[in-house]
Amino acid sequence: MSHPPFSEPNHPKWLRWREDCHNEALLLAERVAEGKKPLIKKIYKRKAVKDLYYCASTGPFQGKCAICGLPLQGDPNADLIHYRPPWPLVHEGKPVWVETPQGPQPHPGYYWLAYHWQNLLPACGFCVKRCETPVFPTMNPPVASQDGNLEGEQAVFLNPHFDLVSDHISEDVSGLLIARTDRGKAWISFFNLNLRDRLPETRLLTRLQQKATGLKQGSQKI
Ligand SMILES: [Zn+2]
Repeated sequence: MSHPPFSEPNHPKWLRWREDCHNEALLLAERVAEGKKPLIKKIYKRKAVKDLYYCASTGPFQGKCAICGLPLQGDPNADLIHYRPPWPLVHEGKPVWVETPQGPQPHPGYYWLAYHWQNLLPACGFCVKRCETPVFPTMNPPVASQDGNLEGEQAVFLNPHFDLVSDHISEDVSGLLIARTDRGKAWISFFNLNLRDRLPETRLLTRLQQKATGLKQGSQKI
């Protein structure tokens, strides 16, 4: 099960950023067509859109890391990450090879998604660090050009823009996460969601606080 994609804001800053990203994506495609290496500019993480949408407490990610759920406020290393990495893919420290019309070649990374808003997620400093290595496991060979069918590659990691994380992962009373699917298991394992210092305790505390807030709000209504 997946839920509808998060809706985009209608704010002029967002619309300007989307247009700038679209233009950068065209320039990038031209560059690759000329045989040059993809060059990803930092425009994808423009501060205005982080503040307005991805990291906003009122936004779709509720001011939390889209991967581990930690609050982003006060984390100086929180940033946007790419779901599908736009840099050459790596598996167990080695390049990922793909078949192309020109023969086997290292996967160039999903460079054509570098500026795509649904390929971007807010993440805490730890998860940002974890994503520095461009790893993206797939059940089928990864798509290596923008004409490919992304659904066909069957991504292992969850994309919170489309996947309902609770379909794949549940939480026990102590804050530990329980995988409900193989994708959930891979997600928990890659991001160390049960092994990181204080993370299960933080989840438990957040849940209790939310419950307390709910009770308080409930009592105010009476
Ligand atoms: Zn995180």
